[in-house]
Amino acid sequence: MSTVVASKGEKFATQVPLLIIGAGAAGLCAALTANEAGVDAVVVERDAVPAGSTALSAGLIPAAGTRFQRAKGFSDSPQLLAADIARKAKDEVDPRVVDAVARGAAPLLEWLAERHGFPFEVVDNFSYPGHSAMRMHGLPSRTGQELIDRLRNAAEANDIVILTQSTAEQLMVDPNSRIFGAEIVRRDGAREWIGCDALILACNGFGGSPELVRRYIPEMANALYFGHAGNRGHAVNWGSALGAQLVHLGSYQGHGSVATPQNILISWAVIMQGGIQVNCEGRRFSDETQGYSEQAVEVLKQPGGFAWDVFDARIAAVARQFEDFRNAERAGAILTFDTVAGLAAAMRVPAAIFCAEWSEVEKLKSSNGQDQYGRNFSAEQACTPPYHAIKVTGALFHTQGGLAIDPNGRVKRNDGTMFPNLFAAGGSAAGVSGSTAAGYLSGNGLLTATVIGHLAGKAAADVLR
Ligand SMILES: Cc1cc2nc3c(=O)[nH]c(=O)nc-3n(C[C@H](O)[C@H](O)[C@H](O)COP(=O)(O)OP(=O)(O)OC[C@H]3O[C@@H](n4cnc5c(N)ncnc54)[C@H](O)[C@@H]3O)c2cc1C
Repeated sequence: MSTVVASKGEKFATQVPLLIIGAGAAGLCAALTANEAGVDAVVVERDAVPAGSTALSAGLIPAAGTRFQRAKGFSDSPQLLAADIARKAKDEVDPRVVDAVARGAAPLLEWLAERHGFPFEVVDNFSYPGHSAMRMHGLPSRTGQELIDRLRNAAEANDIVILTQSTAEQLMVDPNSRIFGAEIVRRDGAREWIGCDALILACNGFGGSPELVRRYIPEMANALYFGHAGNRGHAVNWGSALGAQLVHLGSYQGHGSVATPQNILISWAVIMQGGIQVNCEGRRFSDETQGYSEQAVEVLKQPGGFAWDVFDARIAAVARQFEDFRNAERAGAILTFDTVAGLAAAMRVPAAIFCAEWSEVEKLKSSNGQDQYGRNFSAEQACTPPYHAIKVTGALFHTQGGLAIDPNGRVKRNDGTMFPNLFAAGGSAAGVSGSTAAGYLSGNGLLTATVIGHLAGKAAADVLR
């Protein structure tokens, strides 16, 4: 249930300055920031231990102009990052929000590193599609689990209260759109209203609601949902009941490379380093380097709804930095053969067709050529034995549409004015990916979760002081 109760204003037995719904990256970045600004934040989280989609992610956050980049000699700027985001989203974005996340990312990562001890590094051995600089930052394990664990530890070290096993179901609002509190349902079914002076929605989107996915993203209605099951669209439902502007509800992050049937994410490094995807007929079907998000639908369109990632041992060595890839190896998801004909037989694809596709691609690499789909190849991407293949499918990772916000995460009403004390960050807010899956630039999810979470925490603290 996610409803809104009208009231003239109310005080409850439990009253907090700032209430945050959801303890993912967005909620915890907001809480840490508000706490540093001297405002007590209480976070409510449905799960026993905060995890969210953040824990399922690779934990990679794009940031431009960081000291981590400078240490490795990579030049970059927030302007370049903003231009990359806008280009991928075909300019269907609020430039002020794009500017805020592009400018805010480097200071945020450096703050997490210096103030809270996060050991960020730049991924320096492959580029992500659409990024014109090496700017993806991750933690040593390259997992979102490490990111959320470090955020939770930082929150606990700063005495931030996280009420776990507590699901927010109803909000209370007055005629001036001021939010007074939220009703929380505990694990044992007990209900309690918590009053607040400001509220941040950080409970992600609606990927975990099959009904909302069917309504807003019909092309992914039957796809595997690979995000956190608890993200059931509370923010969108509340926003709709409150008269908030909802933007780009059809937008989402997909991924065209989830090992099946093991359900393990296979890094797009396998493609960007020179790997290809073929269908069950052994044929390529697209320019895979456009982006992994839009490739989800391309893979699902193939006979049987699957494809094969094909690459070599050099590429596997790059992908092995990801725990997920190592888990896929342990789970036996990866085929290995010394010849492409051997691989074709194991993949059960027509050998003649697949071998011809493979030779054509290797020829294009040696001549730095371009294929019929517009994909550019280069000589350093040449593949040599042994060869690998992984059967993959397309999945929905998280929704990118949501509540329209200003650059500080403040939620907009339908008439364009702002709610006085309501903020949204991460998957609860509209992202910076435009109206379709193709507008998702790698890292947009955690970029907006962490940076808008941080900015919303600061803005909410400003409202309360
Ligand atoms: C497999 C996978 C890989 C990804 N890899 C990357 C990546 O490398 N880089 C990147 O930028 N993005 C990545 N993403 C996207 C990224 O994970 C999300 O964009 C990001 O985690 C969103 O953060 P959030 O805080 O908004 O949501 P979440 O982390 O999902 O947190 C929301 C929290 O709210 C809680 N909640 C929900 N409803 C309620 C309620 N009513 N009451 C109380 N609590 C509630 C949930 O339990 C959850 O803990 C990936 C996603 C997936 C699924």
